[in-house]
Amino acid sequence: MGRMEPVSPLEQALHAARALVLADLVAREVAEADVVSLVEDSVAQRRWWVEQWPEGAAFVAGLVAQDVQDALLDRYGRWPLCPVCGSGDPHALEVEPELGPDPHWVCHKAGVKVAAIGGLSSSLGGTSSS
Ligand SMILES: [Zn+2]
Repeated sequence: MGRMEPVSPLEQALHAARALVLADLVAREVAEADVVSLVEDSVAQRRWWVEQWPEGAAFVAGLVAQDVQDALLDRYGRWPLCPVCGSGDPHALEVEPELGPDPHWVCHKAGVKVAAIGGLSSSLGGTSSS
């Protein structure tokens, strides 16, 4: 009984957001079971949000990333820590734009765009600490 339902753009956006944020969690080695459930919670909430406002589908990844970041701050601490600034206080990257398409992790301290949401692993690949 193969039931083939067309996947709506909304559903695709939610799947993509979930995958991107999970990829970043894996990149920073915090993708434990309870953390994954934070992502699921956020995706569930954003599903409602994007159903009310389908034009916001492109913004979902950035919103889920911020939700998870906020939730992790309570339970785990700052995430994702900035990989750019080698010295000074450890600080988290921030999502920019907060509400817009093509969200990125940025370090406001260094004023640099570190990676796209979902791209943290490639930005950290082969870290050569000189
Ligand atoms: Zn930084």
